[in-house]
Amino acid sequence: MYDSIVLGSGVIGVNTAYWLAKAGHKVLVVDRQPIPGNETSYANGGQIAVSHAEPWAKPSAPFSVIRDLLRDDAPLLFRPGIDIQQWRWLGSWLAHCTPGQWRNNLLEAMRLSAYSQQLTRQVQEEHQLDYQQKRLGVLHLYRSQRAMEVSQKSIEQMQAFGCNRRIISTEEALNIEPTLRLSNEKIVGATYTETDESGDARAYSQQLAEVCKEMGVEFAMNTHIMQLVREGRRIHVRVNGELGNRHLTANHLIVCMGPWSARMLRPLKVWPNIYPIKGYSISVPLEHPENAPNVSLTDEANKLVFSRLGNELRVAGTGELGGYSRELNVKRCDRILEHARNLFPEAGGFDQARFWTGLRPATPSGLPCIRKTRYDNLWINSGHNLGWTMGCGSGKYLADMICNGDITEYDRYEMPELSY
Ligand SMILES: Cc1cc2nc3c(=O)[nH]c(=O)nc-3n(C[C@H](O)[C@H](O)[C@H](O)COP(=O)(O)OP(=O)(O)OC[C@H]3O[C@@H](n4cnc5c(N)ncnc54)[C@H](O)[C@@H]3O)c2cc1C
Repeated sequence: MYDSIVLGSGVIGVNTAYWLAKAGHKVLVVDRQPIPGNETSYANGGQIAVSHAEPWAKPSAPFSVIRDLLRDDAPLLFRPGIDIQQWRWLGSWLAHCTPGQWRNNLLEAMRLSAYSQQLTRQVQEEHQLDYQQKRLGVLHLYRSQRAMEVSQKSIEQMQAFGCNRRIISTEEALNIEPTLRLSNEKIVGATYTETDESGDARAYSQQLAEVCKEMGVEFAMNTHIMQLVREGRRIHVRVNGELGNRHLTANHLIVCMGPWSARMLRPLKVWPNIYPIKGYSISVPLEHPENAPNVSLTDEANKLVFSRLGNELRVAGTGELGGYSRELNVKRCDRILEHARNLFPEAGGFDQARFWTGLRPATPSGLPCIRKTRYDNLWINSGHNLGWTMGCGSGKYLADMICNGDITEYDRYEMPELSY
């Protein structure tokens, strides 16, 4: 029998399997995809950024959402439906928009992000992973003085909590990322967080999965998780695929099924408040890489991030609360393409851009659900709005909970001292 079965092989599932194997567990990972990292972790924005950890639920957010309700190309969009789970999510999100909740959530999101960033580096160095990582920091760009003023409070709060995100002049931003000098856009100011980084979450997941295999972890790919079945206080899982149509059980079952986690758990009356928020990305094969950024960027106004992944530029972001469809909205794709082209007009390759959508497994607070359920062998590690940033730390946190009970490294973790 397996010690642990991890359900899902996105960046969260693979990290979880890795830390469990490291703790000596015999682990099986199950996924319907042929390879790990093939759903939401496939083409995200690439940032591993403490400076980007601010939850979307903040005091000013409801006004922006209402203001943009009828704009099809709004960065954050709510498409009301008849799904009761959508309204439950929205209600809870509104409750998290108070100043007090925002501050608590921000602190926790930053702490988990910083912990995870440190562990991702450790894992990369130990196993010599190459996922186009760039440790050049993250620049947040502002297009108007007003936008800078609005962000001031968040920046100050992040600094107070230990994030080394500092306000810099436009000239300093252009020195940090010289290709911005070619931009058609006006940049009035910026912040820079030099400890943040970027890289390809899919490549990381696939390479870490290979490391896991060398550590003895088994992967059942092309295998659908059909149902979680209750037997007293324990759960087993019915799967169908490479292992045949059968039931599996283990001392620990960990649900890491991204946006599908809540649906799978619902029949067991386990209700993590996870709902999909659709995001878009474009991957541009650069014709003139010398005219494209190396430093990862965040365009605050358009809710977009830019990351250089080898000879490609990944531009990703926006959020759409509207159900489980991954359909591409042409208008939204065109807007992202236009923003990217305006910011880096000399980079070339925009006509060959590949479009993608993914469903963020989002929670109202912006914090993931990492916990045991009321069943003896059932755990959740899911609900990551920023799973690339928080994934490695979440995996370790959950593995520590399973293996060491209340004594986890994360519970004792403190943000590092400011370096400026
Ligand atoms: C546009 C966009 C940009 C983003 N940018 C960033 C960023 O810059 N930085 C950052 O930190 N985060 C970012 N994110 C968020 C990040 O990508 C996610 O948080 C992360 O990928 C979630 O990983 P996961 O493992 O939980 O989910 P997934 O990667 O979706 O993994 C879940 C796995 O479960 C499997 N599964 C589900 N149901 C079943 C079933 N019934 N049977 C078998 N298998 C099943 C799926 O096949 C999948 O492999 C972005 C997301 C989007 C959409």
